[in-house]
Amino acid sequence: MDQQTVPTWLAQGLPHVWLPYAQMRTAPTPLPVVGAEGVRLRLADGRELIDGVSSWWTACHGYNHPHIRAAVANQMARLPHVMFGGLAHEPAFRLAARLAQLAPGDLDHVFFAESGSVSVEIALKMALQYWRNRGEARRTRFLAFRGGYHGDTFEAMAVTDPEIGMHDAWRANLHQHLFARLPRDAASRADLEHLLQEQGEHVAAAIVEPLVQGAGGMRMHDGATLRALSEACARHGVLLIADEIMTGFGRTGRMFACEEAGIVPDLLCLSKALTGGTLPLAATVARRHVFEAFLGDDAARAFMHGPTFMGNALACAAANASLDLFEGEPRLAQVAAIESQLRQELEPCRRLPGVADVRVKGAIGVVQLSEGGRAAALRPHFVERGVWLRPFGDIVYVMPPFVITPGELSRLTGVVREVLLTCLPGPAGAADDVV
Ligand SMILES: *Cc1c(COP(=O)(O)O)cnc(C)c1O
Repeated sequence: MDQQTVPTWLAQGLPHVWLPYAQMRTAPTPLPVVGAEGVRLRLADGRELIDGVSSWWTACHGYNHPHIRAAVANQMARLPHVMFGGLAHEPAFRLAARLAQLAPGDLDHVFFAESGSVSVEIALKMALQYWRNRGEARRTRFLAFRGGYHGDTFEAMAVTDPEIGMHDAWRANLHQHLFARLPRDAASRADLEHLLQEQGEHVAAAIVEPLVQGAGGMRMHDGATLRALSEACARHGVLLIADEIMTGFGRTGRMFACEEAGIVPDLLCLSKALTGGTLPLAATVARRHVFEAFLGDDAARAFMHGPTFMGNALACAAANASLDLFEGEPRLAQVAAIESQLRQELEPCRRLPGVADVRVKGAIGVVQLSEGGRAAALRPHFVERGVWLRPFGDIVYVMPPFVITPGELSRLTGVVREVLLTCLPGPAGAADDVV
């Protein structure tokens, strides 16, 4: 973008805004977005980009959906926010009942927060207190998985695989938890069983991203792996936390990824697409037996947590409107169609030099570069060709809004093929090589 098209607000704000995951000395100037509609982002200079990231995997219905916009505008006119302690409002109570209805099994008790990382903190804290309340205070450790990512706050960092790099520098400041390989095959199942036999009595909960590990590199596993994990947890009395912050709300083809495995985790974390990508909101949903462990006459048994903006009415109105769209429009069928188109159109990338793997699950398409590939270096080439993608690590991925048309999706995958064919190996990229 040339100098005269940089809006004044961007030039004046840039020295003051600290950008995410960025080396501020070398970070490229972010692109000024002045509007968004459907799957398109409109830039200040009039260009439009087809969005293949869905704003960090949130905008499942596309941008500026009239139903969500109207619901939020209505709520804004009546009651944007009121504290959740001692006061109640309809959007949050309706949303809790709907989430309980939608979530598998007896995941019936919804605790609201404002971000995914905080919902993970809440799930971990609930798991610890569950055991304390039940008189098993020795269960203080967590079991997490290689390739997993659970957020950027401290305990979320502590259960994120240190090998994926993002939080590596913090290792000395983090609680030490157990890391295992996902139980995909006989050998890793035996390893997990062995670990739990040795240390299981000290483990409060295992935490996993079902079917697709996201920010750790878009790695995929199957339902049988999840069932093996769920059974191992049950054998050793370990709670299972499903972090469906990325996978929840249709992304893998079912409303929740756990459904594909037929498992019911003890705690479920939701955020990202919960409001259709419009407002920050998260939920930690607990099974009945978890909730009941906090009941009693003693205040010390209660869960002492309550974010200031818990259950924000605008965000809950957006989430209710998003659930209306899942009910009224064929979102899961759209995801199935996206899945088959991604398979067809990304598969040819496998034969390109510099490509190690191609994989697809639901509305997630991934091309992994060969050893040493620096995918972030490709970012400007995508923008030049009118698409918004944000490759990281060694992967280029496509996670479009579910309303994308076949033609728009072909444009995305076509640009991926073209850039991989003509722009690899990329120049050494800036240091903001994460997520
Ligand atoms: C994004 C993400 C988080 C963190 O959510 P924030 O809202 O960014 O705090 C946690 N877990 C998974 C699986 C995620 O994809």
